Amino acid sequence: MNVPIVPTNVDFAKEVRADRLSLLWKTTLVLAVLLVWTTLILTALSAANLADVVLPLIATVIGCLLCRALLRANRFEAAVWTYAGGLFVTLGLLLYAPAEGGLQNSTRDMVPFLFPLVIFIIGLLLPFRSAIIGLVLSVLIVVLVPMMTHGVGVTLATGFAIAIMLLASGIAAQMSGELYGIAEWAIANYRRERDVAARLYDTQQEIQRSLLRTQALNEAVKTANIELESARASALEAKNFRGQFLANMSHELRTPLNAIIGFSEAMVHYPEMYSGTPLPSAYRQDLDQINNSGKQLLALINDILDLSKVDAGRLDLEIEKVDAEEIIKYVMAQANGLKGEKPITFRREAAEPVPFVKGDSLRIGQVMLNLLSNAAKFTDEGIITVGTQPQDDGTVLFWIKDSGIGIPPQDMDKIFEEFRQGTSGRRKGRAGSGLGLAIARQLLGLMSGKIWAESTLGVGSTFYFTLPMYTEADAAFDEAQAAAHKQPNVSVGSIANASQR
Ligand code: ADP
Repeated sequence: MNVPIVPTNVDFAKEVRADRLSLLWKTTLVLAVLLVWTTLILTALSAANLADVVLPLIATVIGCLLCRALLRANRFEAAVWTYAGGLFVTLGLLLYAPAEGGLQNSTRDMVPFLFPLVIFIIGLLLPFRSAIIGLVLSVLIVVLVPMMTHGVGVTLATGFAIAIMLLASGIAAQMSGELYGIAEWAIANYRRERDVAARLYDTQQEIQRSLLRTQALNEAVKTANIELESARASALEAKNFRGQFLANMSHELRTPLNAIIGFSEAMVHYPEMYSGTPLPSAYRQDLDQINNSGKQLLALINDILDLSKVDAGRLDLEIEKVDAEEIIKYVMAQANGLKGEKPITFRREAAEPVPFVKGDSLRIGQVMLNLLSNAAKFTDEGIITVGTQPQDDGTVLFWIKDSGIGIPPQDMDKIFEEFRQGTSGRRKGRAGSGLGLAIARQLLGLMSGKIWAESTLGVGSTFYFTLPMYTEADAAFDEAQAAAHKQPNVSVGSIANASQR
């Protein structure tokens, strides 16, 4: 920013004074010329008049013209003195003029009273000491000129004129001081305004910079959004592709695997299929192993197939009114067989009968069985409890609590992720894929439920999940649907597409 140079109050006052002087010399010149002109007309051009009246006035004219030249040359003080000098010479010559043919005595007596005017002008235009010089000069002229030319001493009128001169210089000094005061005030205001302008300018610059920064940020956000969008699209494509690939793979694997399981079972349990040839006992153990491994593999492939269907958005659920108690009974019976020889007791815990819930009965059973088999897998002895409790928010809370090995806190977040196993899951002798909880979470999500866990290492774990209650509104809706399709007890819900299952 270009900051203008601040003038001082002296500069400012000088500028005002130069302006005034310029007006002054012009006015004086006009007056002097008018006086010369009038005198010439009125006195019919006598030689005495020329010398005594016109010539003095010409000194004023010359003083004015010189003053103009000096002002243009920017020499203010010299210009003031030239102007005042012209007036002094004029007044001195008027005092000097002889009485006969020149000015009348009474008129000449008036001349000293014009000096205070000149002193006043000097005092206004120049510093106070110049007014004093003007005063001394005036007194000398007023006293000496009449004394030397007409032998007249200091009269009462002259004394009075000198007194007025003193007064004029005093008033001029006073006004000059005021002028400086005004200049000071004007400059202080000017400085204040300049500061405000500078601050405004800085603020404007800052706003402009902020605007530029915001624009740059907007651009960056736009670019990031575009990149994110394309990354999201690629991720989605990759996810769908993975889902499709896994679905195809699982399907291809299941057919030979079913054959392996089926034949190994037949070889052990149905010797009649082999013309009654009994199986040599040395083979039996290995065939059992083949059968168990095949079943584990099939379970894993089924899990992968489920997950891939969820990924591809093709997992269809049949949402309906579900008797949760029935499922719990069935699943607990199955889990009892999973515990093997371990001293584990299964217990049902419910303060009140469990209400009907809304969901896919097969998938609810799958989730419960997964949690119960995990509990059985990670518990060496003790109690596994299956609990239920209707909640005020229209859901039913289920829990499966074990007295097993527990889950370390750092594993709690990742156990619900796909293919992630906790420290306990990776322990030798505990088979698993790290998919069970991930699938449970996905399935419950599709049934408007949720799942979470609490655990203390070495004490046990509790897995909770919720499902929405089957309400009267649901019943009314189901009835209406059934009436419309003439199919009793038809599934409700958005995801359901029973025919494709
Ligand atoms: P996995 O096939 O490994 O059991 P899950 O998804 O069912 O896969 O479980 C993930 C991990 O969570 C397991 O590997 C195990 O570390 C931990 N986990 C699950 N249930 C329990 C439990 N009842 N007690 C201790 N750890 C458990």
